[in-house]
This record gives sequence, structure tokens and C-alpha cells, in this order.
Amino acid sequence: MAEDKVRRAECACGQLSVEVAGDPEFLPICGCRYCRKRTGSVYGAGAYFNASQVQAINGDSTVFRRGSDSGRYIEGNFCPTCGTTLYWRAELWPDRLAVAVGCFEDFDLPKPQIAVYTEHIQGWAGFDGDIPSFPGARPQPTS
Ligand SMILES: [Zn+2]
Ligand SMILES: [Zn+2]
Repeated sequence: MAEDKVRRAECACGQLSVEVAGDPEFLPICGCRYCRKRTGSVYGAGAYFNASQVQAINGDSTVFRRGSDSGRYIEGNFCPTCGTTLYWRAELWPDRLAVAVGCFEDFDLPKPQIAVYTEHIQGWAGFDGDIPSFPGARPQPTS
């Protein structure tokens, strides 16, 4: 089995860091209100890793729990010194850890598979138009 590459992400001041092995299972671009407020940017990008891929979390963090359009919560961990939200967990996916893509110094993360809440993204802010994009939440798979 090939060694999974370990990537490290850290907050702006470096006090809080996380190490994850291998590629994320899911990497969406999201223009929802929380992702915009969390980043202060035009959209957020989070890399969702399985809990088993998380190698280490170091440093102090403060938790901020917020609601979402779906009614489920998301718990974000931010650095109490510099305020960067480095990672979060969604109630929907309790066994996954999402890491803010902008906090990695590795620039070889796989490209996003999907863009959601695009109706809340500034019209001039571009992203890869090849990926499926939805004006709101991702439609639930029908079985
Ligand atoms: Zn910090
Ligand atoms: Zn979002």
C-alpha cells in the first residue's frame, strides 16, 4: 500500500495545527452564509477527511457552534489568538473532519468536486466551471 501523503494545515499565527494523511474524501466549494462569514471571503472551501485520516491536532482552540439551513449544526474550531477557523465538524457527518483549504501550505490538494450555494457567491468570483454547481444545497440523492 502506498504511503498516504501527510499534509499539515495551520492557523494564521501557527498556534493551532492539524495533520491529515491522504486525500480528502470530499472537497466542496460553498457560498453559504457561514462559509462566507467564517472566511471573510467570497466562498469557502473545506476538505473533508475521515476521522481515521487525522494524524494530529495540536494547539488550543475555541468552539463555535452554529446552525445551518438544514437545521443541523456545524461546530467550528478557531484559534483564540488569531481567530482563524482551522477545522470543523458537521452534525451530518460526525465521523469526518473538515479542514479549511486555505490553511494548507501544500498546493496539490485535489480540485473541488462540487460547488453549492452559488447564488450567494459574488458574480465576478470564479471557480472551475467544469464541476457540478448548485444555487442552493446539494440535492439529496434519490434512491
Ligand atoms: Zn492562530
Ligand atoms: Zn457553506
